[in-house]
Amino acid sequence: MNIIFLGAPGAGKGTQAQIVEKKYSIVQISTGDILRSTVKEGTPLGLEAKGFMDKGALVPDDVVIGLIKARIAMEDCRNGFILDGFPRTTDQAFALDKILAENSMSIDHVVNINVPQNELVQRLLKRAEIEGRSDDNLESIKNRLVIFEEKTKPLIDYYNKNGKLRNINGLGSVDEIAGAIGQVIR
Ligand code: AMP
Repeated sequence: MNIIFLGAPGAGKGTQAQIVEKKYSIVQISTGDILRSTVKEGTPLGLEAKGFMDKGALVPDDVVIGLIKARIAMEDCRNGFILDGFPRTTDQAFALDKILAENSMSIDHVVNINVPQNELVQRLLKRAEIEGRSDDNLESIKNRLVIFEEKTKPLIDYYNKNGKLRNINGLGSVDEIAGAIGQVIR
């Protein structure tokens, strides 16, 4: 089973993707996590990415598409995968379609976790205190939410049209939301 998790920053994609990963023994692929490790390693790619990430901007499409292309071709993805935080633009979605076709793969479900804006800001500010992520400051948070509205939201329509979209209410306990996701991806 191959799944995409859509949803704004702070919607709970990562938390829920980890639960699905364990439950179904399929790998979670988070572009945010991959980028954060390249930043930590201090590679040229990491240095370039950090500038975008700290501002709350998107890392250029060709960079993340390259990362995903290499990751999806790995053996462990044959058993199924969860894309967490990719695609985030329509060009990324088109590139993903191409990559999947090249690997004779397809997406089964696009799980769209809905959370109201004011709740997202509260959650991200709280996460800033707990995890100290350098992009969880008010300015970057606002920027990421604007970018979500402008660049990522059109994907909801894209995946709705091909019948893959599964809408989930992202308000509630982690277990409640996991239960709702379990119902739609069976
Ligand atoms: P996340 O952990 O998914 O919230 O991602 C953290 C940051 O990494 C984002 O704010 C972007 O700067 C960058 N990033 C993650 N995924 C993507 C993507 N698919 N396209 C562009 N930038 C991304």
